[in-house]
Amino acid sequence: MDEFKKISVPHTGSPDHPTGGKCKICKCVLPEPWGDPESIALKKRLGLMIPITTCDKCYRDLAENEMNKASEQAMKASADQWGRVCPDEYKKEITLSMIDSKSYHESVKWQYNSRGLLLIGPSGEGKTRTVWKILKRQYQNGKSFEFYSGNDFGKVAAHAAREGQEREFTRNLTHYVDILVLDDLGNGKMTPLIESELFDIIDKRMSNHRPTFVTTQYNSESLAARFRLSPEMTEAITRRLRESSNVIIFGKRTTKR
Ligand SMILES: [Zn+2]
Repeated sequence: MDEFKKISVPHTGSPDHPTGGKCKICKCVLPEPWGDPESIALKKRLGLMIPITTCDKCYRDLAENEMNKASEQAMKASADQWGRVCPDEYKKEITLSMIDSKSYHESVKWQYNSRGLLLIGPSGEGKTRTVWKILKRQYQNGKSFEFYSGNDFGKVAAHAAREGQEREFTRNLTHYVDILVLDDLGNGKMTPLIESELFDIIDKRMSNHRPTFVTTQYNSESLAARFRLSPEMTEAITRRLRESSNVIIFGKRTTKR
C-alpha cells in the first residue's frame, strides 16, 4: 500500500529542484519537476540543468504579460516621438462641436494612396486640425511627412537656395517625403521663382504618385489670383491639384468667393 502511494504521488519535494517541484507562481505541483536522481546527474554532467519552475498556465500568462509590456512601451515610445513632431496646439483631442465635423469625418477616412487632400474653407473650421489628425495615424504607420504653413515654404526654399541646397531640398520633397502638407496655401508671400518651384514640386509628386495635402481659404479661382505666375500656369496647377485630390469643403456656407 505504501509503495503504491509513493508511485502515484507526483514528484514533489525533490531536494535539487529550485522550487521544490512546485510552480513558483501559483504553487501548483509541477508534473515533471526535475526527474529522478539518475537523470538529474546526467543533466548536470551535460550542462542541461534547466529545471522548469513555472507551470504551463503561469508561463503563458507571464509571456503574454511581457508581450503586453513590450507593446505598451512601443506605444509610449511612438507617443513620445509624436509629441516631438506635432505642435502642442494640435496634440489635443478635437472638439467636434467647434469644427465642421462632417467634413472632418469625411477627411479622416483618408487611407494612404497617391490621391491627396484639398481642404477648402475659412479658417477656424478645423482644416489644419484635421490634417494633423490624419498625419498622426500615418506617422504611426511609419509614413514620413513635411508640413509647411503660410510663409514657411517660401522661407525654407529661399534658405535652401542660399545654401546651394535647392536640388536636395526639391528632390527630397518630390521623391522621398510620403506626405507633403501645404497649410494655408495662398497666404504668405512667395517670389515668382519660389512659386514655380512649389508648383514643380506639386506636379512631380503627382507624377511620382505621392500625395500632397493642401489647405486653403480660397476656392480655385481666388487661389489662382493669389499667385504672381501667369494665370494660365496657376490655373493649370490648381486644376491638376483638384483632379489629383479629394476635394473637401469646410464650413460650406461661409467660404470666401
Ligand atoms: Zn503556476
